[in-house]
Amino acid sequence: MKHYSAAVIPGDGIGPEVMEVGLSLLQSIADIHGGISFQTESFPWNCQYYREHGRMMPEDGLQRLRPFDVILLGAIGAPGVPDHISVWELILPIRRSFQQYVNLRPIKLLRGLESPLRYKQHDDLDFVVVRENTEGEYSNMGGRLHVGTPYELAVQNNVFTRYGIERIVRFSFELAKATGKTRLTAATKSNGINHSMPFWDEIVKEISSDYPDIETQLTHIDALSAFFVSRPESFDVVVASNLFGDILTDLGAAVVGGLGLAPSGNINPEKQYPSMFEPIHGSAPDIAGKGIANPIATLWSISMMLDHLGERELGKLVLDSIEDVLIAGEVRTPDIGGKATTRELGDAIREQLYRRG
Ligand code: ATP
Ligand code: MG
Repeated sequence: MKHYSAAVIPGDGIGPEVMEVGLSLLQSIADIHGGISFQTESFPWNCQYYREHGRMMPEDGLQRLRPFDVILLGAIGAPGVPDHISVWELILPIRRSFQQYVNLRPIKLLRGLESPLRYKQHDDLDFVVVRENTEGEYSNMGGRLHVGTPYELAVQNNVFTRYGIERIVRFSFELAKATGKTRLTAATKSNGINHSMPFWDEIVKEISSDYPDIETQLTHIDALSAFFVSRPESFDVVVASNLFGDILTDLGAAVVGGLGLAPSGNINPEKQYPSMFEPIHGSAPDIAGKGIANPIATLWSISMMLDHLGERELGKLVLDSIEDVLIAGEVRTPDIGGKATTRELGDAIREQLYRRG
């Protein structure tokens, strides 16, 4: 019997609604498999907690998460609490202190869905973005000068380290190799950002010489964004800095059907610390409480979590079950053209899981 432990942070808005479906899925997987159990513990750290305690998580929050195999996050953020609090006091400390330097975001059009790019089939839209998750543009270093004068200015430093670039680029090449992919595209902007980006380019080129079978391309972020729309079939693995990866993956989510579908993993490849899996969408205050959020992004994130735990067959079973339900086309939430609720779609996927399992 294998036991896995998961710390669960349902969060705000639609976070708890989609996480409820996620937890039922874990239960169903354990029912089907028999040889696996999930021990979950929920942590109520969200914007409500912040209003009551003046902080997003207790002082020993990170220590309490540390022993778990994985962390599952719903969504964080609420009107009235600035993102620089909810994000900087909860999500970023988890990503950084647990060395989750890889943010893995598949851009894959599931069978049964249509892309807003009218002529693209699901084989055309199947690649992965690896976003650097700990440094770069989101450095928290900088400040304001001459406040309140006509000369007021703000400075924000980008910080790129050789260590940080090497490990994310090497991970991306290894990922390509392990998944039998032949192309690696690195996002850059060395024509405009003339210190950090040429450094990034140099390291990409250095490391690429260790992978002669993989075709490596450095593409400027502006052109690359356009190519996500005009020729998404030309990508296998795309590696990008923190900010560029953030923007590219929202665009990627849009071309494969929207934020309700897009999963992600914040991964510590060495498995020294827990990795964290979360839908890339936010708390969606506009639909929170209505019970109509799409749970697929969360269920797909759980599929990635299973892959990370080494349970690849189960990960595939979850994704196949999601696709079965999309192909049947009867049960869909409003964001993908249906009338079903979060629970109804979750139940349909779990029923399919039992059928296949
Ligand atoms: P946050 O500040 O928490 O990131 P946001 O408003 O910036 O919130 P999202 O919460 O991601 O961003 O929402 C963007 C849009 O996508 C909203 O209109 C929301 O309703 C929609 N959306 C996000 N997630 C889902 C989902 N799971 N199902 C359906 N619609 C969703
Ligand atoms: Mg947002």
